[in-house]
Amino acid sequence: MEAIWLYQFRLIVIGDSTVGKSCLIRRFTEGRFAQVSDPTVGVDFFSRLVEIEPGKRIKLQIWDTAGQERFRSITKAYYRNSVGGLLLFDITNRRSFQNVHEWLEETKAHVQPYQIVFILVGHKCDLDTQRQVTRHEAEKLALAYGMKYIETSARDAINVEKAFTDLTRDIYELVKREEPFKRTAHIITL
Ligand code: GDP
Ligand code: MG
Repeated sequence: MEAIWLYQFRLIVIGDSTVGKSCLIRRFTEGRFAQVSDPTVGVDFFSRLVEIEPGKRIKLQIWDTAGQERFRSITKAYYRNSVGGLLLFDITNRRSFQNVHEWLEETKAHVQPYQIVFILVGHKCDLDTQRQVTRHEAEKLALAYGMKYIETSARDAINVEKAFTDLTRDIYELVKREEPFKRTAHIITL
């Protein structure tokens, strides 16, 4: 794929520790499932091009919390200039679902007056037999927040492309429609 892009979007990936954020990012950017991932070590920013329409590419710059996922431990700098985010919980961990609200509140506090376009992600959907959160209640919550809901697995490569691509499309639609969003969101245009 040619390295020419229309826009560059900065995305963040948030959610409780161990929900699978790093694995999801790596599956998307490196195409593999990194079984052991040290939460504290590693690169915390990745990038990949996505083609949203034939010939129209967007460069995603994806930030990982790299082990700082206790509440209020993530600094403002992490959120700065982000236009979109994947808000993850683990479908086998009810607590991580209950914390979705706190993550949103924390994000809001950091990015005001700007907004970030989120997609709610129920991760580790390959572990359906250990599920503690039904698809129905997750969809209901997403609807209440005006977000899309998707279930993903980094292990089995389920919906990983779709999660990132759907989010990118949603941001792109906003950018096309809304001049103010374009200005405030710090989107880099070439
Ligand atoms: P993070 O703390 O949110 O970055 O979580 P990690 O990406 O480090 O993953 C935490 C644990 O969940 C690791 O043991 C991963 O192997 C495991 N994990 C991540 N994604 C999946 C998945 O899609 N399916 C399953 N079964 N396990 C996963
Ligand atoms: Mg991690």
